[in-house]
Amino acid sequence: MANKCGGSKTALWLAGIGAINWGIYGVAGFFGKTWDLVTWITFSQTWLANLIFVIVGIAGIVAIWGCSCAKCEVKDMGAQSGQQM
Ligand SMILES: [Zn+2]
Repeated sequence: MANKCGGSKTALWLAGIGAINWGIYGVAGFFGKTWDLVTWITFSQTWLANLIFVIVGIAGIVAIWGCSCAKCEVKDMGAQSGQQM
């Protein structure tokens, strides 16, 4: 994670926050509660919550797939050579 661009790091953070949100949601679910951080931080604005879910989803794709900018690509080529898309 050292030689990643800002966008890639942001994507990782957003994906991580999304994952933590799901974790909290799941744990709270066992206790019969619905703790959704996204709903909470958006003050139950459904459109805003949906927008955050979409952004987190895109961030997840970027985090798994990898960023294709010059800074990230140099490292990825060395690490996953032979993988063709
Ligand atoms: Zn990048």
